Amino acid sequence: MDEEALTLPGIDEGEILVIRSSRRKRNISAYRQGGRIVVSIPARMSKADERAIVPEMIAKIRATEGAKTPTESALAQRIDELLSELAPEITARPVSVTWRAMRERWGSCTGLDQTIRISDRLKLAPDYALDYVLFHEAIHLEHFDHGSAFNELLSRFEGSELASAYLDGYEAAERALAEPVELKKLRTK
Ligand SMILES: [Zn+2]
Repeated sequence: MDEEALTLPGIDEGEILVIRSSRRKRNISAYRQGGRIVVSIPARMSKADERAIVPEMIAKIRATEGAKTPTESALAQRIDELLSELAPEITARPVSVTWRAMRERWGSCTGLDQTIRISDRLKLAPDYALDYVLFHEAIHLEHFDHGSAFNELLSRFEGSELASAYLDGYEAAERALAEPVELKKLRTK
């Protein structure tokens, strides 16, 4: 986001951030940033036009994302591949793998009923980051804590540093976006 955009008042509706930018004379753009959809509209656009345009832009973004999002059965298949390849001694397979709106965690596994949930914040994540979370949760099918046996298995995942960096960066971006606009304005000085 450029500094000019930050100095303009935005209307925050949870996941949606509408920015009125004087620099964008005619352009309307929408993009995903952290966990939010940011819609940038010209500063002079009428409220009535905004009410019509913004939902349209959000629908477009969501449709594109939907096409790029792995299905839940694809997640289950990927877990099967990761376990077969990296941890063949784990023979358990999840009964279900589901996308779930989770802000505090990247994934969770209930060993008792063998179900795995993956945060919907990973829907557009690069493969290595999604794989890392899938593999982590899959190990929990047989190892409930983060003890030495768990860590030995997880260490077989190559690229865990890159994946951790992606996840940490995403969380940092979310925290930054959660701050009030006025506060961010002060910090850039
Ligand atoms: Zn864990």
